[in-house]
Amino acid sequence: MVAIATFMADNPYSYGKAGSRMKTLYIYIKPHLRVMLLQFVVKFGGTIIELLLPWMLSTILDDIVPSGNMKKVYLWGGLMVLCSIFALLGNVIANRMSTKTSKKIIGKLRHDLFKKVSALSCRQTDTFTLPSLISRMTSDTYNAHQLVDRMQRLGVRAPILLLGGIIVTMLIEPVLTLVLIGTLPLLGLVIWYVSRKGIPMYTEAQSSLDKLVNKVQENMTGVRVIKALSKSEYEKGKFDEVNLELAKKEQRAGMLMALTNPAMNLLLNIGLTLVIVVGAFRVHGGFALPGKIIAFLSYFTIILNALMMVSRLFLIYTKGAASAKRIAEVLEAPEDIMTGDRDHKPGDYHIEFRDVCFSYNKIRSNILNLSFCIKRGETLGIIGPTGSGKSTIIQLLLRFYDPDAGEIRISGDKLSGIPPEELHGKFGVVFQNDFLYEDTIYENIDFGRMLSEKQIKKAAVTAQAAEFIAERQNGFQDILAVKGANLSGGQKQRILIARALAGNPEILILDDSSSALDYKTDAELRKMLKRDFSDTTTVIVAQRVSSIMYADKILVLDDAQVIGYGTHKELLFSCESYKEIYRVQMGVVG
Ligand code: ATP
Ligand code: MG
Repeated sequence: MVAIATFMADNPYSYGKAGSRMKTLYIYIKPHLRVMLLQFVVKFGGTIIELLLPWMLSTILDDIVPSGNMKKVYLWGGLMVLCSIFALLGNVIANRMSTKTSKKIIGKLRHDLFKKVSALSCRQTDTFTLPSLISRMTSDTYNAHQLVDRMQRLGVRAPILLLGGIIVTMLIEPVLTLVLIGTLPLLGLVIWYVSRKGIPMYTEAQSSLDKLVNKVQENMTGVRVIKALSKSEYEKGKFDEVNLELAKKEQRAGMLMALTNPAMNLLLNIGLTLVIVVGAFRVHGGFALPGKIIAFLSYFTIILNALMMVSRLFLIYTKGAASAKRIAEVLEAPEDIMTGDRDHKPGDYHIEFRDVCFSYNKIRSNILNLSFCIKRGETLGIIGPTGSGKSTIIQLLLRFYDPDAGEIRISGDKLSGIPPEELHGKFGVVFQNDFLYEDTIYENIDFGRMLSEKQIKKAAVTAQAAEFIAERQNGFQDILAVKGANLSGGQKQRILIARALAGNPEILILDDSSSALDYKTDAELRKMLKRDFSDTTTVIVAQRVSSIMYADKILVLDDAQVIGYGTHKELLFSCESYKEIYRVQMGVVG
């Protein structure tokens, strides 16, 4: 857990207590504020110039054209073209700058999110659930990206056009502006209502998306078994259910959001009609010039567009804020498993479990009063029915979870006092259902540890993998398919064992990882392990008695409890269940 601690300490973006959803984004935006300010100035300049165009038009119509001076008409016309070019350039440059900035901001956010997700404890991962973490890293960061990007563009442009438009219209036609201002509170009300209702709706839709991701993931992973059991139709039905739920929620949120544009259009068109009516009376009465009314109508359109942008911004904000909250929840997740003070107790044992109790859900025990001790270089075999807690012992030994009671020590050091890098560096592990990458066999064994070729080849020999690797077309450079699909079950297990051995671990853990090996290869593997890794303490979890019967100590588990502990010979006398398993599996009569 030092990794998380260091990450938290070194990282200026990390914080301890839960903050507002926007605080998370702001922390990432802060380092870019100066560039954003420059961007703001460019955008501001471009937008102000854009805002001046209708005013220039009204001056040409009302003052320049009636004077009959063609030179002046060309001059003002040229000036307008120039201003349009500047406005365009300003907008393009600022947009390009904002694209770069938001890419950097979200890149960093995504990087930290990934780092944090990798550092989450197993308990936290269980709580968030895997699909939810995936959608937080993908669709939620996309929404946050939209938010940051659009806020820099529309967020600057829209208020300037809106406020600037109102100010200019006030200057050229104060009476007509009152009509315009009269409609604004109503528009504000629409935006407020829609965003207040919309945020919870989008949060709900996002959690439905989690479910959908989960379903897709399950289906993709289990596609073969689904086909084999002819469950495709059943699974399709289940998928449709989740899909429909998501569609309904998206639809509800979308329907609400769809209210905004027509409602605003209606209000603005009513305003526009009023402007034309009042304007006509004013021109007729000689209080206003026609050019001013034309400019006013242009400003009215600009203001209308600005308001549309604001409503679009609200939609993006609504989605982005809901996503920012979900991202913040992960980033702000407190450190779950901390490294305490070093606690060393001298002794002879390499691995010690003393009265360890553990439960995943804190309701039903998954490990109850477990105690065992093994010396360096010894082998511990663990056997028991499925669900009895064998893999849980491994999870506790690797400190993926902390025990609820009792203590675990390695070389006399209490597990909670060993920094995670140091702790995990001691292990070579093959998990039950471990996986291979789509890469060369060599890289799959090396696993990015930059091990020497000698180490890798030695590990492959011990793991009984060298022979079949040599028979492959490109040997160690042969590329494996996704999840090692182009290998047999036993070949996969042997490469995984080679991976665990290659780092020359202090403790080797094999969780049900020789189940696909034939008896002869399995026996050969054990023989080679004894010969080449005699100093390595080994924990073997197995369903087959033959895999663990030669271990120095054997632990027999049943329903979270130890029902036998000793050597094979001892257990044949003391443990009825063990004797039964042995009798059934080895075909011993009597
Ligand atoms: P198998 O031989 O099938 O691998 P096992 O002995 O390794 O079984 P464990 O994986 O240790 O069994 O599981 C023991 C119990 O803990 C099971 O009842 C299982 O449902 C539960 N369990 C395992 N992992 C979790 C988890 N992440 N959250 C909640 N319960 C869990
Ligand atoms: Mg298991």
